[in-house]
This record gives sequence, structure tokens and C-alpha cells, in this order.
Amino acid sequence: MSEPAASPPTKPRLVVGIDLGTTNSLAAIRAGKGARVLRDRDGEPLVPSMVCFHPDGRVLVGREAKALRLELPDRTVFSVKRLIGRSASEVAAEARRLPYRVVAGERDLPRIRIGDTAWSPEAISARVLQQVKTTAEQALGQPVQAAVVTVPAWFDDAQRQATKDAAALAGLDCLRILNEPTAAALAYGIDGTQDGTVLVYDLGGGTFDVSILRIEDGVFRVLATAGDTHLGGDDFDLLLADRILAALPKATAKPPVDDPFVLQSVRSAAEGLKIRLSDATEAELQLDLGPRGTATLRVTRAEFEGAIAPLVQRTLDCVQRAVKDAGLRLEQIDDVVLVGGSTRVPLVRERLRQLTGKPPHTEVDPDLAVALGASIQADVLAGNDRSLLLLDVIPLSLGIETLGGATQKLILRNSTIPTSVTEEFSTGVDDQTAVDLAGYQGERELAQDCRLLGRFKLRGIPPMPAGLPRIAVTFLVDVDGVLRVTAREQRTGAEAGIQIVPTFGLSRDEVRRMMLDSIEHAQQDYAAREAIDVRNKAAAMVRGTQKALALAELPPDQTYAVHKAVKALDRLLAGSADAAALKAGCDELTKVTATIADDVISSAVTKALREEEGR
Ligand code: AMP
Repeated sequence: MSEPAASPPTKPRLVVGIDLGTTNSLAAIRAGKGARVLRDRDGEPLVPSMVCFHPDGRVLVGREAKALRLELPDRTVFSVKRLIGRSASEVAAEARRLPYRVVAGERDLPRIRIGDTAWSPEAISARVLQQVKTTAEQALGQPVQAAVVTVPAWFDDAQRQATKDAAALAGLDCLRILNEPTAAALAYGIDGTQDGTVLVYDLGGGTFDVSILRIEDGVFRVLATAGDTHLGGDDFDLLLADRILAALPKATAKPPVDDPFVLQSVRSAAEGLKIRLSDATEAELQLDLGPRGTATLRVTRAEFEGAIAPLVQRTLDCVQRAVKDAGLRLEQIDDVVLVGGSTRVPLVRERLRQLTGKPPHTEVDPDLAVALGASIQADVLAGNDRSLLLLDVIPLSLGIETLGGATQKLILRNSTIPTSVTEEFSTGVDDQTAVDLAGYQGERELAQDCRLLGRFKLRGIPPMPAGLPRIAVTFLVDVDGVLRVTAREQRTGAEAGIQIVPTFGLSRDEVRRMMLDSIEHAQQDYAAREAIDVRNKAAAMVRGTQKALALAELPPDQTYAVHKAVKALDRLLAGSADAAALKAGCDELTKVTATIADDVISSAVTKALREEEGR
């Protein structure tokens, strides 16, 4: 009875993990037990997430784009991760901080205007991903077609889908969007084989994220996230840059602030100083600004720590908030994992250790952890490692059509996969030997408003009165998002089923529209559902009462009264009576049967209703 609506996509075996970052991006691959990042010819794994549209027509990506950032500030696009998957109005404040022009395109989508051309954030991200893909291909010596791409845990559906779209534009089949903190935990060997709670502290150049992950039965769940989208190592640099500027000769101290090149030199020098202070307790700087003079500065780690302490405290406040939001106490955190270059700052590690009472894991390079973790997931998807579970969720509820065109949801939207749910149903007509089953996807109450995934027939049911066969329907979504629906008659073992890819052919807009539809039509759906339920109830009552009447030996007057009420209800059912009329008919029949001394009828009706509920 197999009737696949769509066959699952064939999976290429070479799948890389990609950390698509706000500032830098990179790819990694897992080979055997180990994972490694993929480097370009110069041995550099990081591709700056920047694209420069040169006036001469060239499009430069990565380091080449970064080099032109000061020269062509309005043509060098960076930080598009802050824009992707959001509306122009949402990102308006963000866009004001950027040196390039962000305008509102159609449907209020943000567009990056360079000359006469408007680029979508997806198109820019695609360029970065293409560069990462090329780097990976050069390192591996073979084409890369598929990837797992990471996003912040707090990215919503639209941001995730836009990231997927960017991957598709880059010619990459994005097999999975993975949460960055989950990837980081995987990189640290937290692979789900043990239950626990992990705090992922991610302090990069310009953003800070903290996530609390709960790992249970191999499934990673994000319990809470907090952070600051404008806090990171760049802010540490600015504090040191202020000191460098103050150390410049008075005559040149003022002009450099207005000169982007001098300012950039000062900031680069500040970053270098900061990085040295991660290893040394004291560092010295001699900055030669040519005709603008030189600056000499000696900074101790203690001074630097004094300056950045309030910023570090802000991150710790976020940590506490996230732990609280997760409904936990700090003592309940089992592991602390570090991500992002700025977690190399000793004060950050020390303060975090003091707060959590646990030494943070530092074995993995914090710049590479997310890509390495993504590559572990990629390896699983490539079919090379079946020991790890996948961590995705189902975008729309899955269910079957029941009597009268209503839907019964078996797997609810946002359930983590893999998942499996079994429910028992029965037949609606006596001696029914086959049932038609139809699987649907969507949030609406009526099958006609949901998306049909596939139909199949279960045959071989032994003839029995309606409601007696016990048909177990199982919905199983496996690690690859493939849905298998099976139906099994419990007494005979007769079985049938189909296999479907539920998201197959569904665009983001469709998923969104289906969600919005369900909200918009909630009231009307509820009424329609109620009408179906009351109709099913009435039909079951008529059937049950008629059977009981045939068996019971009632005095003629009572037989007459029950007959009359059953007939009236049956007539209502045959016509187009509304829910209220049917409900009144049911109430009337209940009243009549309840007054009968012999409880034969009422118990028969109760039985019929109970069977109806299981249908
Ligand atoms: P990410 O965004 O994760 O690539 O992190 C980049 C940030 O990490 C930048 O602000 C760097 O200056 C900072 N960073 C990199 N290495 C170090 C280091 N050894 N000590 C302190 N900060 C560092």
C-alpha cells in the first residue's frame, strides 16, 4: 500500500559544517573521529563575512573586501547577519549604525543599495558562503555540495529560512540549520550520550550570546538565551584605543579622530595590545603614525582588566538572567563552554569561573568551535555516523483526517525530531474491512484546510461492529525529517503505511501562511470542528440506541418514546441541521433514555459514545 508522495532527497556524502558568523565565517569537516577546519592556501581558516562592490565592477569577498573597508565604506558590506530574515522596519535602528545604505524594498524587506543595485542580505551572505565553499573545495580537492550551517539559538523561523536561502543561492544544499551553542557543545565532545545542562558563553568581536542547553535522551534543547547584540571584543579595543589617542602628541590628538585611516591604525594597535595582554601581564605599544607623530604606551593587564571589568560584568548579568529564565540555579549547570575569540581574555574566564563555580572548557579553539561542531552534525547527515541524534524541530503539526473531515494531530508543531506518536482509532461503520487514511500537515482543524501529505488504505480488518476494531496509527519522523505513517489493526496484525517528506516542496512563505491562517481562522475552525464533533456524537448515539432498542425488552410506551427521539435525531442528521440543533437533539435523546428505569439503553449509548471518542 506504499504510495510515497515524494521520495527523500538523495544525500551527497561530502558534507561540511559552516559557521556563518557576523564578522567571520569558516568551514570544517569531520573525518573519522577527528574534525578539522578547512584553510585557504595561506593557512587561514577565517573568511571575513564582508563583500565589497568595487566601482570597477569587481565583487570582492572576505579578506580582499575587508582590505577595502576604509577606502570604500559605502560599498563594503559587513554584518549582514544582523539584517538577514528581518524586515526593513525591524532593522532600521541597526542600519543607522552601518556605513552602507540599507533601504526598504518591496514587502518591507531590507535591501542594501550599492549604486543602482539593491542587494538582499541573503545575496550578500551567499557571496560569503560561496567563498567559504571555494576555500573548502580547495582544501579538500573536491566539490562540496552540502552543508550544515549554524545560526544563533534565538534566530526565528524567518532568519533560519533566509540563511537556508542564502546557502541555496551559494549552490549549497543546506541539510540542516544548527544552533550555534549546540554546535559548540558538540565540538567539546558533549554529544548527547549523557544527560546534562550546558552553559554556552559566546563572546565574539561585536556580539555576546549566552545559551542554556538541556541535553536529554540525546536531544539538545535550548532552555534560554540572553545576550547583547552590541557587546564584544571591539568594545575592549575601543577602551584601549582611547588610551592610545590620549597618548598621542597634543597637536595630532584631535585630527586623527576624524581620519578613518588613523583611527583604524589606532584600533588595530589597540586590538594587538589587547591580544598580547591575554598572554602577558604587561604590554608595550609603539605606534608610528608618520607625520602625525608616534605614540608610546605601556599597559598592564591589571589596568586593562580595570577598564573592561564593567563590560565583563554586563555579560555575567546576562548569564544570570539566562540561568534564571531557564528555571535553574547556577549550581545546576554541569558544563561551561566557551565560544568566540574574546573568551581568551583571562578576566572573562576567571569571572565566569567565579560565577558558575566551574572551570570553563577551553580545550577547543573558541574561534573554531562552532564550525567544528557543525561538521560533526554534517557527518551524521552524510550518513557516516548514526550514533548521534538530530536536533531539528517540525515546523507544522502532522495528523490524520478523522470522521467527518476533522483532523487529529499526532505530532505537534515544534516537536523535536526524531519523534514517534501512536494513537488508537476505530471504524465508523459496522463490518468495515478497510479504512482510508490520509496524513495532513498544518494547524487548522479541518482536513480540507491543511496540506494533504498522502493517502493509503488499511485492508484486512475482520468484520466487526463499528468502534470495535483497534487501529493503531503511528507517525514517526526520523532523523532526516522523513515521516512514516503506519496503521495496524491490533487483533489481526493487518498493516499498511506510507513514507513522506513532510517539508518537501514547502516554502517558508507557505509555512508562514499556514501558521497565520490557523490563527486567523481559529474561531471559525473551532466552530466547524465543534459541528463535526457534535454530528459524530449524534450519529453514534443514533446507532447505539437503535442497537440497544433491538436487544432490550422495553414496555411499548418507552420503546415508542425512545424511537421518536432517535428518529428525530436521525432526521436532523440526514438534513443540514446546524450544531445547535443537533446538540438539542442529542440532549433530548439523552433525557428520554435517562428516564428509562432499565439502564440498558443508557449504558449502550454510553458505550457507543466511548467508542466514538476513540475513533
Ligand atoms: P570572533 O568574533 O569570535 O571571531 O572573535 C573576535 C574577537 O576576539 C575580536 O575582538 C578579537 O580581537 C578577539 N580576540 C581574538 N584573539 C584574542 C586573544 N588572544 N585575546 C583577546 N581577544 C582576542
